[in-house]
Amino acid sequence: MNQRILLVEDDPGLSLIVSDVLRSEGYAVETAADGERGLQLASGEHFDLLILDVGLPKKNGFDVLRDLRQRGTTTPAMMLTARGQTIDKILGLKLGADDYLTKPFDTGELLARIEAILRRAPAMAAPEADVYVFGDVRVDFRRATVTRSNEAVELTAREFQLLRHLIEHRETVLSRDDLLNEVWGYDAMPNTRTVDVHIGLLRQKLEPNIRQPQYILTVHGMGYRFVG
Ligand code: CA
Repeated sequence: MNQRILLVEDDPGLSLIVSDVLRSEGYAVETAADGERGLQLASGEHFDLLILDVGLPKKNGFDVLRDLRQRGTTTPAMMLTARGQTIDKILGLKLGADDYLTKPFDTGELLARIEAILRRAPAMAAPEADVYVFGDVRVDFRRATVTRSNEAVELTAREFQLLRHLIEHRETVLSRDDLLNEVWGYDAMPNTRTVDVHIGLLRQKLEPNIRQPQYILTVHGMGYRFVG
């Protein structure tokens, strides 16, 4: 299996050069030309590395990284910055950026840095975080798949993100507003009914008895709590 890299870069010429170089080195490359598309791809599929330009249309590279981390995505990230661009490296480190490269860069240097990040990456990922099992449900975070009694369960990307967030915060009461912010993002339509609808859908797919949920519990007046 080729390692997968997502390149989010709005300069079409640079995007083409970098993806050609990466493909010639054997990486599988997906590209996005703006931050929103990049976020959508990175939260819906598995990648081994993200290369994020900081200056992007719609959503800058730091905001993309912040939103991804809030959704529980731990994919290593390299930030691309323009020469002379003042960036807050502390902010980037807090958000979990693994490296910075200033444009224009030498493609040999880019490849060397990518290899260094990918070598470090397996040690950083918590192995037990890849799969979570409750009842007859098995959630594979790496493949973004869910099975129930070994039968595939079809979840939408949003349902999967919601389930992941619930599992990562198991035993904790999460308010509808928290879930909206963390799973849907700050620019979501502020409608907590959306959360209830998606919780209902998850219960239909995962709970043995939807009238008496065992795993995704309602905490009256407060929100939801995952146990399992
Ligand atoms: Ca740019």
